[in-house]
Amino acid sequence: MAAQEDSFLYALSSNNAWAGYKAHQNPNFFPKLASGQSPQILWLGCSDSRCPETTILGLQPGDVFVHRNIANIVSATDVNTAAVVEYAVAHLRVQHVVLCGHSGCGGALAALGGSRVGGVLDTWLAPLRALRQAHREELDAIRDDAARAVRLAELNVQAGVAVLMENVVVQEAVRERGLEVHGCLFDLATGRIRDLGFGTGRKGPSGSGGSGGEELVRGKHAQLVFRGGNASMTVR
Ligand SMILES: [Zn+2]
Repeated sequence: MAAQEDSFLYALSSNNAWAGYKAHQNPNFFPKLASGQSPQILWLGCSDSRCPETTILGLQPGDVFVHRNIANIVSATDVNTAAVVEYAVAHLRVQHVVLCGHSGCGGALAALGGSRVGGVLDTWLAPLRALRQAHREELDAIRDDAARAVRLAELNVQAGVAVLMENVVVQEAVRERGLEVHGCLFDLATGRIRDLGFGTGRKGPSGSGGSGGEELVRGKHAQLVFRGGNASMTVR
């Protein structure tokens, strides 16, 4: 990036190189992309620049429908999130809804810090501060600042998954076609996503069902296979 001082110009030239590379690698990639989308995953995550869902999942454009906001807060009254969930679940008919928090989340750190951020941000982060209050004893007992932020991020995912499970569109899809809802946490320090086991229940390597479980996250252009503690990715 140092070679070019303007980060926007750099991003455009990077996009040009990427598009050329993808087209060379698979001449059908962009024609297929332009023909429509049928993602299997809805991802609800944090806006943090370090959590780009498609990249960290090792998937491709077309694989993941996305809504991200500051601190991945899912509130029942947020029409923005609700519209994304409804479109993804009722119209695109995704098979998985993934709510994913992350370590080192600025929103969690701000809520734990207890000081005012200012502007509209304090209003936005109010649900996190409420969680902090509700779990004050447990959180205060955690000595390590980073670990305390991780715990609050987990509680935030748990609360968000609970909201999702109360969403009627989600409930119908769970009942009628086996939609799965997952709560996860992305660890910035290792790049790994941990299934917290909330929602419709976990499957795969770390599930309680033993080593026989296999979970397939099938994207349009790549698929991740989780089996016996290992994941492999194949790209078509
Ligand atoms: Zn965050």
